Amino acid sequence: MSQEKIVIFDTTLRDGEQSPGCSMNTAEKLEVCRALVDLGVDVIEAGFPIASPGDFDAVRQIAERFSDRSTICALARSREDDIEKAIGALQSARKRRIHVFLATSAIHREFKLKMDKKQIVERAVASVRQAKDFCDDIEFSPEDAVRTELDFLCEVVERAIEAGATTVNIPDTVGYATPSHYFKVISHLKQHVSNIDRAVISAHCHDDLGLAVANSLAAVEAGARQVECTINGIGERAGNAALEEVVMAIRTRGDYYNVSTTINTQRLYPTSHLVSSITGMKVQRNKAIVGQNAFAHEAGIHQHGVLQERSTYEIMNAEDVGYVGENLVLGKHSGRHAFRDRVTQLGFELSEEVMQQVFDDFIQLADKKKEIYDADITALIESRIDVTPDRWHLVSFQTSAGSSSIPTATLEMQCEEEPVLCDAATGDGPIDAVFRTMERITGMSVRLEDFDVQSVSRGKDALGEVRVIVSHQNREYHGKGISTDIIEAAARAYLQALNKVDADRNGASPPRVSPQL
Ligand SMILES: [Zn+2]
Repeated sequence: MSQEKIVIFDTTLRDGEQSPGCSMNTAEKLEVCRALVDLGVDVIEAGFPIASPGDFDAVRQIAERFSDRSTICALARSREDDIEKAIGALQSARKRRIHVFLATSAIHREFKLKMDKKQIVERAVASVRQAKDFCDDIEFSPEDAVRTELDFLCEVVERAIEAGATTVNIPDTVGYATPSHYFKVISHLKQHVSNIDRAVISAHCHDDLGLAVANSLAAVEAGARQVECTINGIGERAGNAALEEVVMAIRTRGDYYNVSTTINTQRLYPTSHLVSSITGMKVQRNKAIVGQNAFAHEAGIHQHGVLQERSTYEIMNAEDVGYVGENLVLGKHSGRHAFRDRVTQLGFELSEEVMQQVFDDFIQLADKKKEIYDADITALIESRIDVTPDRWHLVSFQTSAGSSSIPTATLEMQCEEEPVLCDAATGDGPIDAVFRTMERITGMSVRLEDFDVQSVSRGKDALGEVRVIVSHQNREYHGKGISTDIIEAAARAYLQALNKVDADRNGASPPRVSPQL
């Protein structure tokens, strides 16, 4: 019996990007989008074009480059100018969708929109029709659907389908639903909306109660055939349903749900890594599917069982999610050929130039560190495919610190091809001194919001990874750096964040509107 397909709708670039500390610039969005296409995502919600000129441009570029394999979707409120902007951004897309939303719950009708039920229905119908003039594929979302009276929800959905909506999304905007409740809402729609067979029902769940994935699966069981989710579950507040968890639950329990997705699951782990690297939002070690511990078997009794017969304790194979563990692969004497093979196996496609740079980094690292793990190689690659063009470069640095001296840093830095600048500063410690010197040389002043250091792999000589978040004029920027020397890693992370501030200053982006959905 053939399994029905679940459409995977990814909103990492819209809902995910809206969460604090996860904002991405256009180059970063394009990089994530490329990974989402490789992952086999059916629909990519690329952004909210009316939010700002930067958001419009990102959606436009994504539509131009990535709409052959995945459908590119733009979000709009039920307002004429919003929909016009969405249409404008999707002009050159081959496969395109407009997603219109309007709040329907009593609390939103009364306090936010100040509209009655009749006005809501009229507005929804008018918006769907306006979008339908541009393309066939239209999604409609009654915002806060879960808290909307069921009768009224049925009425709005029915009228939206009548007006041309081909997907009706039932968002749990505030993360209020529980699995059995959400199952009932979706079942009620299936039973009471006369034209429901003409549209795909979609789930969009938030994780405020930690139930986003469970609720999405309950919706699938009730007949939803699209799930909206984000990589690593990033998103407003506690986040959205995690794509990797939804996909692997459907795959692992296909026996029960009798549905499937066309996601290339071996790309899950690399994509998770990329999104974490670009947004600076770390994945916790015990996170399902993509956490460092997800496939680790430390306990002796488990190990014994796994060695004898994998299925004793494993419900999924690590290879199926493209898991890159701490497996020892290469050392100082591994040649270019072996290295290139490993990079390919890890799922990266690098240009000759980047491959050469990463290989040089690898040789340098192999001098400092005896054993090189997959995670090290991934970190080296990610630090070379940083997509923000950097104007400032670190030429050299020197620090001195100790219990009876004032920590001091001396740096040489260069802006593009200009002459090398040298300066020094003192600080609370050597890292603080490095940061202060960088600010003196670049003339930029930012606030350090978060500083985090961890090892990429095992051993005393492990690569250290430093992540920083800095703020500048109410916007947050993140940076990441790796080195076997954590002062150098910190310097590289701070420099990356400063370069992002610098890039933003030059293309000044005004404040934006964020939709709640
Ligand atoms: Zn949402």
